[in-house]
Formats: sequence, C-alpha cells, structure tokens
Amino acid sequence: MTLICIFLGVPGSGKGTQANRISKQFGMAQLSTGDLFREALKNDPNGKLAKIVSAGDLVPDEMVLELVKRTLKSKGDYSKGIIFDGFPRTIKQADALKEIVREMGAKIQVILLELGLEKAIRRISGRRICSQCAMVYHLPNHLPKEEGICDHCGADLISRADDTEEKIKKRHHVYLESTLPLVGYYKNHLVRVDASQVPDDVYRNVEKCMKAMANDQT
Ligand code: ADP
Ligand code: ZN
Repeated sequence: MTLICIFLGVPGSGKGTQANRISKQFGMAQLSTGDLFREALKNDPNGKLAKIVSAGDLVPDEMVLELVKRTLKSKGDYSKGIIFDGFPRTIKQADALKEIVREMGAKIQVILLELGLEKAIRRISGRRICSQCAMVYHLPNHLPKEEGICDHCGADLISRADDTEEKIKKRHHVYLESTLPLVGYYKNHLVRVDASQVPDDVYRNVEKCMKAMANDQT
C-alpha cells in the first residue's frame, strides 16, 4: 500500500529540510507546495499569487488543490510513497487529500515537527535559499562553500520575500488559525517529533518514525 507522509509544523520547524532528506533516503517522491508556488512566481513576479505568498497569507484552497492534482498526475513514480511538505494546510485541503488517498488506495501518516515561535523566528531569519534549485542554507549554521553561491548548482542565494520577522509572525498566526486544527484532524495517524534540536538529531528521530511506519504497512 502506498504511504503518503505529511510533514506538519510551524514555518521554520524544518519540514522542507527533513522531508528532502527522508525522500532521498527512502526513494519517496517529495511534493512541496511552497517550492512549487515559488517556482510558479518566477514567471509572474508581480501577479496575484506573488502578492499572497510574499505577504505570508495562504493561497486559496482551489488553487492549491489544482496544483497538487496537476503535479500528482504529471510527476511519475510514487511506488515508494509520497512526502507532502506544506500540504495540507487547511481542513478543506485535508478533506480533498482524503479523497485523493482513497482513489490511490494509499495510507496517510503525519509527522508533526514541534517548535516554539522564538526559535522558529531565529531559524527563518538566517535562512537563505538557492534562486534556481531551492536548496536551503542557513547563516551561520549551514554555510555554502562560497559565500552567496549554491554548492549544488552555482546560482545566487537569496532571502525569501516572506522571511522577514514581521512576515514570519504573520505566517505563525496563519498556522495557528488555519493549520493547527489538522493536529486534531489527524490525531489517529500522527507522531510528534521535537524539532528544536540540530537537524541531524531531528533527522534521527524522524527516520525512526519512518521505519516504524514502513514496518507497520500491511
Ligand atoms: P513555510 O512553511 O516556511 O511557511 P512554505 O514554503 O511551505 O513555507 O510556504 C510558503 C508560502 O506558500 C505560504 O506562506 C503560502 O503563501 C504558500 N503555500 C504553500 N503551501 C500552501 C498550501 N498548502 N495552502 C496555501 N498556501 C500555501
Ligand atoms: Zn542551487
């Protein structure tokens, strides 16, 4: 049975970083709605979508669902499972995912990365991302080999438009209001991981959860 794993947590909890490592280790497909939106924005940097994302607001559910469904149709190999990072973010999105999961005959597991606001702000303020390949760095904890340049593809590193302190607080608020209810929604499929440790330590715990889930699949 296909495993669909959802990484849930406040902005800055490390969803993208952990999801990326896990997807590589377990051969799972990773689907990050945030990355997909940022990619789409490159073609329309002043459009409606860019305004929503850079303000730290949620993209309307219909647009998110359209993107997720389109990506799932085009993306290919889901035999080892899918990791969603940044989706679902509202009950409405979760209801739609339930339907998708039913059609695929898949099973959902949720990993909740737990982290307080202060630490999240500190983490996000130091975040730099590659303008081309979306690889994530952190000043001073995860520096590129050459200042301002992506190790992976050589493109420039940039700060995300929504990574200012004011926007981070806004996104945190949006999380508490719209996304936190998903913790109750998924209570029977959810494991909690302390996300306040360094990435390698968080990873070890996430990895343990993933292995337990894999063994649990019958
Ligand atoms: P973070 O978790 O750090 O906020 P993401 O990269 O997951 O970052 O998302 C960045 C932005 O993209 C969000 O603030 C929102 O505007 C938009 N977005 C991403 N995923 C969704 C979603 N599932 N529903 C609505 N908006 C989304
Ligand atoms: Zn890069």
